[in-house]
Amino acid sequence: MTTRLLDTHCHVDAYDDPIAVLDEATRRGVDVVAVTEDPGRFRLLRTRLGRRPGVHLAIGLHPLRAADTAATDLARFLRLLPHADWVGEIGLDFSRAGAATRHPQIRVFDALLAEPAVLRHPLTVHSRGAEPETVTRLLQVKARAVLHWYTGPLAAAEDAISGGLWFSVNPSMVRSARGSRLLAMLPPTRVLLETDGPFARVGNRPTRPSDIPAVISHLSGIWKQPAESVRAQIVDNQKRLLGQPGADRATP
Ligand code: MN
Repeated sequence: MTTRLLDTHCHVDAYDDPIAVLDEATRRGVDVVAVTEDPGRFRLLRTRLGRRPGVHLAIGLHPLRAADTAATDLARFLRLLPHADWVGEIGLDFSRAGAATRHPQIRVFDALLAEPAVLRHPLTVHSRGAEPETVTRLLQVKARAVLHWYTGPLAAAEDAISGGLWFSVNPSMVRSARGSRLLAMLPPTRVLLETDGPFARVGNRPTRPSDIPAVISHLSGIWKQPAESVRAQIVDNQKRLLGQPGADRATP
C-alpha cells in the first residue's frame, strides 16, 4: 500500500502546464486526485493523463454549472463514470454566486446521489453556503464523501463528523481564523489533504500539489504532534477512505 500523500482535490486541468505541476508533485511524493467540472473536461483529461501513475481521475458536475446541466450531461456522466477513480467536483453552492441556481443544483446533486454507481466511488464535495443541506444529503445516502475546503457552521461539521464524513484541509485553511477553528475540532482520524489548486493561493501564487507537505507541518503545530506522526495519521486516513467497501475501479 502506498505511503505517498494524496492531494484529494486539485484542478489539474486548470494550470497552464499540468504536466510540470504533476512532475513536481511526483518528485515531492504527492499523488493527485484530478477533479473536473463536467464530463467533457473529464474525457479530455482522461485522454491526456489517464495512464499516468499517481493521478486519480475524478468526474464532476460543478454546482455552479447546474443551470446549464441537461439530462444528456447526466447521461454522459454516468456513461463515463466507470472510467473514474473518484467523483468530484460535485455539491451545492448557495453563496451569492449560486443563490439563483439553487433549484437546478439540488436537482443535479440529488440525481447523482440517487445512483448506486456514484456511491461506489469516493466523493469530493463542494458545500459553500449550503453546508447543512449538503451534509444531510450525504449522510442520508451513506456516501463515502470528503467535504472539500469546508467553511460552514461548526454545528453542520459536527453532524458530518458523527456521521462518518471526511474533511480535506488546504494551505489556505491553515492560515485563516475560520479554518483554524474547524481544525481545532476535527478529529485527526477524519482529516485528508487538498490544495484546490490553482484556485487557492499560497502567498501571491496559485497553490500546487507540491504544497501538500507544508500542510503537514501546520497540522503538527495545531495538533501538537511531531510532523512524522501527523504524516502517518494522514496516510492511514487515506488508506481507510480508499479501502472502504464499495470502491469501484475501472481497469484502463
Ligand atoms: Mn475546487
